Amino acid sequence: MAATESSYRSRNLIREAVDTIQAIDAHAHNLVEVESEFPFLRCFSEAEGEALSFAPHSLSFKRSLRDIAELYKCEPSLDKVEDHRKSEGLVSISSKCFGAANISAVFIDDGIVFDKMLDWQSHKSFVPAVGRILRIEHLAETILNEEKCSGSKVTLDSFTEVFVTKIKSYPSSETNVKLFVVNPQIIFL
Ligand SMILES: [Zn+2]
Repeated sequence: MAATESSYRSRNLIREAVDTIQAIDAHAHNLVEVESEFPFLRCFSEAEGEALSFAPHSLSFKRSLRDIAELYKCEPSLDKVEDHRKSEGLVSISSKCFGAANISAVFIDDGIVFDKMLDWQSHKSFVPAVGRILRIEHLAETILNEEKCSGSKVTLDSFTEVFVTKIKSYPSSETNVKLFVVNPQIIFL
């Protein structure tokens, strides 16, 4: 019995710590406007195309939907949750979600373009600290595509020169910039 009470207390302490500790999202993608073509269902699953239609049958979807509906205080159905998001608006919904998740900082990877996505700095309206992740593979891809379009011959040396120059110039418009290299990303603070 004593052991059960002890483990119960330990579980409560762990739960309390998890509930109160501030979180940092070290790799997030840009929020999109409510009217975006990006399917809301993709917030629950990384599946695409036909596979996405199976997402509502997964346990993670059902659990997530239940949690979101509880947070929004609406019925736990995808339609009702989406209706609520539209009626509340992006600013209200985002503030509520970031607040409930107790996220103190977020690092945005804006290397993937979504329909009607917010620029990374806009996220400062919802989170105390926002940083930017530069996807170096996306930068490399952009440079190679630009070089290819210009018709010039790309060598390892020419590519490296452009790549390094672009990385050095990248944070020039931002203040108090610190640079962290976290394979394979670069994080600007
Ligand atoms: Zn990413």
